[in-house]
Amino acid sequence: MLYWDHAATTPPHKEVVDTMSEIMNQHYGNPSALHQAGEDAAKLLKRAREVCAEALEMQPSEIVFTSGATEGNNIAIKGAAMQYRSRGQHLITTTTEHPSVYECFKQLESLGWEVTYLPVDETGVVDLQKLEEAVRKDTVLVSIMHVNNETGTIQPIAEIGSIIKERNHRTLFHVDGVQGFGKLSVSLKDWKVDLYTLSAHKFKGPKGAGILYVKQGVELFPLLVGGSQESGQRPGTENVASAVAVAKAMRLAQEHQEQFCDKIGKLRNLLLEEIRTIPDFVLNSSSQGAPHIVHFSYPGLKPEVLVHTLEQLGMLVSTKSACSSKNSEPSRVLIAMGKDKDLAASGIRISLGWEHTEDDVIRLIHALHQSVEKLRPLTVKRG
Ligand code: PMP
Repeated sequence: MLYWDHAATTPPHKEVVDTMSEIMNQHYGNPSALHQAGEDAAKLLKRAREVCAEALEMQPSEIVFTSGATEGNNIAIKGAAMQYRSRGQHLITTTTEHPSVYECFKQLESLGWEVTYLPVDETGVVDLQKLEEAVRKDTVLVSIMHVNNETGTIQPIAEIGSIIKERNHRTLFHVDGVQGFGKLSVSLKDWKVDLYTLSAHKFKGPKGAGILYVKQGVELFPLLVGGSQESGQRPGTENVASAVAVAKAMRLAQEHQEQFCDKIGKLRNLLLEEIRTIPDFVLNSSSQGAPHIVHFSYPGLKPEVLVHTLEQLGMLVSTKSACSSKNSEPSRVLIAMGKDKDLAASGIRISLGWEHTEDDVIRLIHALHQSVEKLRPLTVKRG
């Protein structure tokens, strides 16, 4: 079986698994405890926070360990909206965010906040003119993702940060960085980012672990209460093994980033070229996208059918994001990019990882051709 779903999750580094196992076996103290075992765990947690901060060129006090990006996005968006509601109740995001961002805004809207959902162009890039027009005096927060999890579209984060801060320097800027970290370079200072979310399992770290960067001076209304861990922003006994593993995975991802981009970018180009030649497929990813995601539609066929046919040929691919792959609604992201319902309901995502080789891509291409030959008679022609 060849695994082509690295945007959903990645196989962890062996080093990461070994580190976690060692810490769970040998350093199991509660980092808040006053005795030796507690101090030992607290030291490990402190060092992990320093490593994460170094990777982002920020301060350790600005790093909050979380259970992943769904939690990080919720803490950042709802926490900021609630904390600063006296400044205003206007928020901005885009129509193509991950559900863990999008649904936060839907929830806040139902509670009385006003939300502007910015449109995107046919490649999925946000309309900067509309952003400039949208930021107001009472805009508390803008949340825009770095890389889209379905199509791989890269947002111009540096320009977005400048526009927001020029229009209103008090408006906070949150970036869901999940699909960009380890693939593209990240510069939170230059981007003028106040809040930044990561999830470790997307870059060969453990599942259920991530970080939220909170710029010094930014306060968040805590969604959970009951303890003073993580400066009260995320109370509860810290998962020391996960925190150390996140730090390790971040360091490794950064060390390998250039090499990853180079290697995987070439494989992606090969795949894109080939998919363009299959007349039944419609490419939804642009060549300017992130190096690890290729997204296309096979109109006239339920995408699960292609997924299962490819699986029989030893290839594991996905439909849309893992969080929404079980709902058969057309993709909100593709609809926002102006695709019709048929295309938006027949999307397939292939996401590449560090382990892939050119030979693997050739085998995948062969399997795609074989599947089309088999399934073509079953497709429903569009009128
Ligand atoms: N944001 C994006 C862009 C994602 O791709 C994902 C994972 N599908 C998340 C947030 C949620 O991350 P987690 O699995 O850590 O909750």
